[in-house]
Amino acid sequence: MGSIASERTATGWAARDPTGVLSPYTYTLRATGPEDVVIKVLYCGICHTDIHQTKNHLGASNYPMVPGHEVVGEVVEVGPDVSKVRVGETVGAGCIVGCCRECGPCKSNIEQYCNKKIWSYNDKYTDGKPTMGGFASSMVVDQKFVVKIPAGLAPEQAAPLLCAGVTVYSPLRYYDLTAPGLRGAILGLGGVGHMGVKIAKAMGHHVTVISSSDKKRKEAMDDLGADAYLVSSDEAQMATALDSLDYIIDTVPALHPLEPYLALLKVHGKLIMMGVINQPMQFITPMIMLGRKMITGSFIGSIDETEEVLEFCKKKGLTSIIEMVKLDQINEALERLERNDVSWDEWLEADRMLKFTDENVRKQKELKKQSTEKSSKSGRSIQNKPKSSNDAKLDKEEHRNLGSRGKKRKGQSGLEEKETRSQDKLAILQFPLTLKKQLVDDWEFVTQLGKLVKLPRSPNVDDILKKYLDYRTKKDGMVAESVAEILKGLRCYFDKALMAMLLYKKERQQYHEAVGDKVSPSTIYGAEHLLRLFVKLPELLAYVNMEEEALAKLQQKLSDFLKFLQKNQSTFFLSTYDGANSMDEADD
Ligand SMILES: [Zn+2]
Ligand SMILES: [Zn+2]
Repeated sequence: MGSIASERTATGWAARDPTGVLSPYTYTLRATGPEDVVIKVLYCGICHTDIHQTKNHLGASNYPMVPGHEVVGEVVEVGPDVSKVRVGETVGAGCIVGCCRECGPCKSNIEQYCNKKIWSYNDKYTDGKPTMGGFASSMVVDQKFVVKIPAGLAPEQAAPLLCAGVTVYSPLRYYDLTAPGLRGAILGLGGVGHMGVKIAKAMGHHVTVISSSDKKRKEAMDDLGADAYLVSSDEAQMATALDSLDYIIDTVPALHPLEPYLALLKVHGKLIMMGVINQPMQFITPMIMLGRKMITGSFIGSIDETEEVLEFCKKKGLTSIIEMVKLDQINEALERLERNDVSWDEWLEADRMLKFTDENVRKQKELKKQSTEKSSKSGRSIQNKPKSSNDAKLDKEEHRNLGSRGKKRKGQSGLEEKETRSQDKLAILQFPLTLKKQLVDDWEFVTQLGKLVKLPRSPNVDDILKKYLDYRTKKDGMVAESVAEILKGLRCYFDKALMAMLLYKKERQQYHEAVGDKVSPSTIYGAEHLLRLFVKLPELLAYVNMEEEALAKLQQKLSDFLKFLQKNQSTFFLSTYDGANSMDEADD
């Protein structure tokens, strides 16, 4: 059918460099080989992998690059040896478009584990040419890697099944966890997590969603139909689920403890890891020995399993919520997807704030000390950390304030795990020298001279944030939505953190008098207290499950804000404090 020998062109949307901005790009498709299927693309899903690839987060991107690996389209031409599909049929193509066909995995039809598999984009095909993905008018794919979309399954619904769907289906199938009545949990509610709840529910499982906060409870229970919801930090809640689960699908792509989850598994229960975590994880062996439990991993799925999951979802009438965008809006859609990663709401939850107070503040201090010792031993330099006299003073004060309130500390393994994170992340925020000096003065005025910042301040925190937004808007020629969002986050954070961790003890009475319960602290306090928040931010960020790149970007923006504070230091900050300390406290 058609002209086998002639090459054809496709127009795709390609990234040209690590900015990841896509623009139209015309390229040649290979001549249709005997087993090739030419697909006219109808839909293509967007997934986080696309962002990582287009922005070179993995350091192996080649440009121009047309991303897209959840492709659904119509067959417009087939090679003479193609028997799997026919012209006019609706088909899908996923992450993989080639494999060696000779190795063990290939012979067992689990080609996703072939060491020579070929990715649907940012890879080299057997003819030596770069592979191009599904954000394009058409694609040529070997029939082995093409799946038929069953009649009765909407093509746009099929797209996410080709990646997230088969990713959760594959291990459930392989480990024989498909029978109705099983009890499973999904840890983390991203793209794969969503699909996990849907598919497990469709299998007739009792499904628990485990998340770090309460934020996704409604979504999990009402929208996705989960049976239960656990907040992982709530030990009492977690205790109700001990020894109750046949499996946990762990989608969290950041370092986290394993033991709390292993404890939830029944005898023979399986913890199935799906998030890429490039740091060593820890657990003690009795956690798996006592109960013959298993920690395992799984990676996308085979073509056979892809066909199965499509059929399964059709049979069960499973649908997911899909937002459709035109291809020429692809950049906006990618940006939105990425911005969701950097959501400040995620770490503005009330329960997280609680975690930051009391015991945790003390724990963080300990960690900081440990990591400083370690890093100075190993010769690594950490900017902004405690060597400055000011930080040391803040430490002292904090310890004194917290005094006897600390609870018993947790197991050593948990501490070490967090230490690694803290150590990596503390290094990033740039603190200008003159602002450090400002902090020292601040400490001296309040704790040594007994002076207070006279309230209300002008400009207050709100004013300063507004000024920064104006400044950025003028400089960039546009209102950067991400900056506005970060400022909003800073304001919320300031309001929540002020009483909990930014005030010296001598300032607390003043807080109650000036703020009470009625007004927002950001309308009363000014630069002096806002600056203290920045001392705490690196520690706080170390507790956030953000991907490294997103975190780096956020910290770069915060550093820019600090520079702005420095530039306006003389107008934003008081040069001397004169508010009287209304209450002398005996233990100070
Ligand atoms: Zn994907
Ligand atoms: Zn192979």
